Amino acid sequence: MLIKHFASDSKGNLYTIDEDIIIDCGVSFSFIDATIDFQSFGYLLLTHEHADHLNKVSLRKVFTRSNLIIVCGEWLNDILLSHGFDESRIIVVEFGKVYQLGEYKISPIKAYHDVENCGYRIMKDGHKHLHITDTATLDGIDAFDYDTATIECNHDEQKALELIAQAKENGEFTHLKGAMNSHLSVQQTIQFCERNRIKQLYPAHIGSSTKKEVIEALRRWV
Ligand SMILES: [Zn+2]
Ligand SMILES: [Zn+2]
Repeated sequence: MLIKHFASDSKGNLYTIDEDIIIDCGVSFSFIDATIDFQSFGYLLLTHEHADHLNKVSLRKVFTRSNLIIVCGEWLNDILLSHGFDESRIIVVEFGKVYQLGEYKISPIKAYHDVENCGYRIMKDGHKHLHITDTATLDGIDAFDYDTATIECNHDEQKALELIAQAKENGEFTHLKGAMNSHLSVQQTIQFCERNRIKQLYPAHIGSSTKKEVIEALRRWV
């Protein structure tokens, strides 16, 4: 399974699995068009409504210029239908169920964010991949012995707490407090990978304010 991250942070998200599955559509259409041959993919898996994961203008263009099937939870289906997307090219998936998409089996996993969100288990020919970003916790999720995982490493816990304390002292606003309540730290992700013996982690959705510390934490761990 060839996993690629073309955009992965709070400014935009676009991932691919082989030449078959696209995950999220939170970038401009011109970026998508210049980056991937989207018409050759079969499925587009969506996670949640935040603009860095779902750019509706881009999605419409991609959808009308291809035969892509959109896969999403019911919380996004309502939004897509209200925007006139063709129902017959949307597969609505439920937590805990497994779906056959061509040669792949996929299954959505509940994520814990400030809006309804999900990750996906994706399996093909014995290869098991986990994709999950924008969640406060991975508690209750198992991915034992998975071959690969795209998991967010949004912030470094210690540095984020330092920056929050600093902002408070200066009477300044920081988005980090909210980020800590709705995103995974690099420490949580490393613990999860160790507990599950994930063979290869593709770090995702790294926030800019503690990026240096996140990369250091990953380097120390690998
Ligand atoms: Zn995000
Ligand atoms: Zn989000």
